[in-house]
Amino acid sequence: GDAFLSVRDLKVQFSTEDGIVKAVDGLSFDLERGKTLGIVGESGSGKSVTNLTVLGLHNRKNTNVEGEIVLDGKELLTATEPELEKLRGNKMAMIFQDSLTALSPYYTVGRQISEPFRKHTGASKKEARDRAIQMLEKVGIPHPKQRVDDYPHQFSGGMRQRAMIAMSLVCNPDLLIADEPTTALDVTVQAQILDLLKDLQQEFGSAIIMITHDLGVVANMADDLLVMYAGRAVERGSVREVLKAPEHPYTWGLLGSMPRLNSDVNEPLLPIPGSPPSLLNPPSGCAFHPRCAFTDKVDGGRCKEDRPELPAGRGSACHLTADQKQQVFIETIQPR
Ligand code: SF4
Ligand code: MG
Repeated sequence: GDAFLSVRDLKVQFSTEDGIVKAVDGLSFDLERGKTLGIVGESGSGKSVTNLTVLGLHNRKNTNVEGEIVLDGKELLTATEPELEKLRGNKMAMIFQDSLTALSPYYTVGRQISEPFRKHTGASKKEARDRAIQMLEKVGIPHPKQRVDDYPHQFSGGMRQRAMIAMSLVCNPDLLIADEPTTALDVTVQAQILDLLKDLQQEFGSAIIMITHDLGVVANMADDLLVMYAGRAVERGSVREVLKAPEHPYTWGLLGSMPRLNSDVNEPLLPIPGSPPSLLNPPSGCAFHPRCAFTDKVDGGRCKEDRPELPAGRGSACHLTADQKQQVFIETIQPR
């Protein structure tokens, strides 16, 4: 089908005291209506910056953005701030990791859900309040009629996250960006919130971008996956393809560092050694080479010199041969 959101060769750089940070360095992806794209990577991989840029929330003063972001036929990078303002909350919305920063402590939960609804639909106060109650009910807040006038601090962490989801969905956005939406919650509540998002997606038909460092979060949620490293996509495919036959050594590392269910051992199988690279001065060639255990399987130091490209469609940006990508994973890494 036709892409509802299309990102082409996106580059985001910002200047700091220490130099220019290449936060996103040539990223392309498509998302269809009603589908979920998981963007996975460690912090500093460019996943959050990408999505702030989609929403036009990047700092324009010190940021240079190149490329194309087209949402439903509209080019966002050339859109004016009033145009973006109209789209945000209405056509696209965001769920943040921390509901305490997204919700104001000074206003009731109900008011914070009904305000964007009034603003974008012109509904009356009474209509907007009814809508807020209805949304609280949809996200599973018990006794919504009583809770609508509560302040955020009167809600538990899980309830605040639900309230924030209600606020994001109140205008029925076509695109929902969820940045680590469950990271701050305990495992049981995490699973409930993810189920809720899935149900609401069915009902509202929104496309979702789910940003996470945790492959487990997107395994049951996303249709497609994009694995990011150092501001670039290093692997792309359907969730099934990527989880069943991952191709990129960094993805192997992410899979290996997933906690093993059905095991007494709580340690990751294969932690990724080292730390994410500096985006001020990214490594030459394949940016993953300082942490990669497989550079000796590639000829002549190529990993250090020659940057591998991500092919269109299913694939990975790595110099290993197609055979090696299959075999090495199966022989040495696949979790038992
Ligand atoms: Fe590792 Fe080389 Fe592949 Fe990069 S290109 S992931 S360094 S094997
Ligand atoms: Mg982030």
